[in-house]
Amino acid sequence: PRLHIGLTGGIASGKSTVAAELSALGAIVVDADALSRAVVAPGSEGLRSVRESLGPAAIAADGSMDRAAVAKLVFADPEARALLNGIIHPLVRAEGRRLVSEAGPDAVVVQDVPLLVESGQAGAYDLVLVVEADPEERVERMVRDRGMTEDDARARIAAQATDEQRRAAADVLIVNDAGLEDLRRTTRRVWEHYVAPHLEGLTNGS
Ligand code: ATP
Repeated sequence: PRLHIGLTGGIASGKSTVAAELSALGAIVVDADALSRAVVAPGSEGLRSVRESLGPAAIAADGSMDRAAVAKLVFADPEARALLNGIIHPLVRAEGRRLVSEAGPDAVVVQDVPLLVESGQAGAYDLVLVVEADPEERVERMVRDRGMTEDDARARIAAQATDEQRRAAADVLIVNDAGLEDLRRTTRRVWEHYVAPHLEGLTNGS
């Protein structure tokens, strides 16, 4: 790619919103959450490995991975969690690498990686964008939009890196402290300042 961008931020901080705006501006978005679902799609090699490691309880009646059952299986069992991660993470990394190389030399590729900082991957990107939002706002969104309890929402935030740790890894910090339209506008400004200069001299399709 011309520019390989890592996009991260805490849960419910606004990453998907930023990614969608970057996509509208012409970036190719590689979404780690979407990949982690795709690599265990029905009939996949990944799902077969999950069944072998965690047993038939991991598979729903329709042949897909039973996410609730798997979450329960690995919640109290670090060994099972390590097995699951050992299956899914390498597949996600390989699939991500394939999509990035397929994007071609002139593409702007944005990888949306929730745990980019936690997994120490910041050095793998030309530019690391961090989206930051007030933890209390994020809890409110998770409770309101995703039916989580307040305790669950707080626990999810506490299990991730802190805002300070993400800031330390950021090349560009996007503070999401106003409305959605403001977040999109900020994203367009980031594109103008940090991405567009890399694209000078390129013309579309000719
Ligand atoms: P996850 O880590 O769970 O994938 P995310 O970081 O991708 O979340 P988004 O999905 O972009 O976050 O945002 C979470 C929710 O909060 C969405 O419903 C989004 O529309 C809403 N939201 C984000 N920013 C704002 C904002 N500034 N004002 C109002 N709503 C917002």
